[in-house]
Amino acid sequence: MALRPEDIQMLLQHEKRDTLSLYLDTDPTKPENQRKPEGFRIWARHELKKLRETLASVLTPPERKQLEAQAEALLKELDLLKPQGRTFVYFASPSFQLSAFYQARLHKNSLHFGAPHVAPLLWLLEEYARAAIVLLDHQQARFMTVHMGITEGVQEEFLYLDTEDFPEYSLRATPITSGDGTVYKKGSFGDVFDRRVEEQVHRFWRDAAQRLEKFIQEEKPVLVLLAGEEKARSFVRSRLSPAVRDKVLDEGVSFAVGAPAHEILLKAKPLLQEGERRREEALVVKLLDELAGGGKADAGAAAVLNQLREGNVRLVVAAWPMMREEIHVCQNCHTYFEDAQDKCPLCGGTLTRRSFSTALIREVYLHGAQLELVTGKGAEKLRQGPYGGVAAQLRF
Ligand SMILES: [Zn+2]
Repeated sequence: MALRPEDIQMLLQHEKRDTLSLYLDTDPTKPENQRKPEGFRIWARHELKKLRETLASVLTPPERKQLEAQAEALLKELDLLKPQGRTFVYFASPSFQLSAFYQARLHKNSLHFGAPHVAPLLWLLEEYARAAIVLLDHQQARFMTVHMGITEGVQEEFLYLDTEDFPEYSLRATPITSGDGTVYKKGSFGDVFDRRVEEQVHRFWRDAAQRLEKFIQEEKPVLVLLAGEEKARSFVRSRLSPAVRDKVLDEGVSFAVGAPAHEILLKAKPLLQEGERRREEALVVKLLDELAGGGKADAGAAAVLNQLREGNVRLVVAAWPMMREEIHVCQNCHTYFEDAQDKCPLCGGTLTRRSFSTALIREVYLHGAQLELVTGKGAEKLRQGPYGGVAAQLRF
């Protein structure tokens, strides 16, 4: 059970600062979660107590009443909570209560009261993004979808060479795999038969390339790893449209098409994850080059938010996790500022503090921009000096 896109939209549009947001690592394989009571229950109860104490003096009496009511509801929820995944996500306000489990990891628990804290949820969804592994040889194609940030869960389908024309040689038979992945096949052909088989195999690869195009349109993986026979890989790759070829990782891996899924995942996951980090880094480099050349790009927390507000942004690239906690916004002209000031230098209005991640995600959503959260080297580059961990590709 995951949150629906309309739930996430609703959270992003919810402007009242009356929502309790919880992200909890409930991973049942962690030792602290195997004790009774489990570590996650202890953490959540403790943080809830702390939050109530800290906010007691800050909130107005009606707000405090709201927090108390939702804290009680969450305590009840916690008592009954049975982990069904690694991360438990919970949002509650007077007008809604949403919860879900995700298999991806956040590596950090958090509890917030205020506007819905949506940023970690977007990260979870990005970690959950689909990748594809496509295994090919001259008689079978195997299409697998996997999730980037998690180690299990595969959906797959097969495409076989139609061997009706070759009753004497069952191409469909499962290949016999040796320990080192070499595939042995029984049988031998005469020359003419060889050529007929070759034509048939090429037709099969063209079908596989077409099926791959369709598969990518339907499944929308962020990356594709082509694996299997070298000849089959290069044939299929050469027949893909440029848009699809862009998603295909450069390096291929040799697998027997019929290899067990867990073996394939074990080898493919690090390649996919590495490929994803490289794609992110290339995106950051391109954006920063554009910025250095005075092109259609901007960077820095307040600068990007102001560009978003004016509808100029196509894509925001932000380093994850987001280090900056706060941003200041003018209540009158809505301009964002990096630092606290007595009044807005543009219009004299009052400045208020906002959560940076929430402000960023809201502006992205409101103005139809795209958001890409990056980690690794891409994030390091974005966090350097003036960029402040966030950059934007501008429309104009
Ligand atoms: Zn102002």
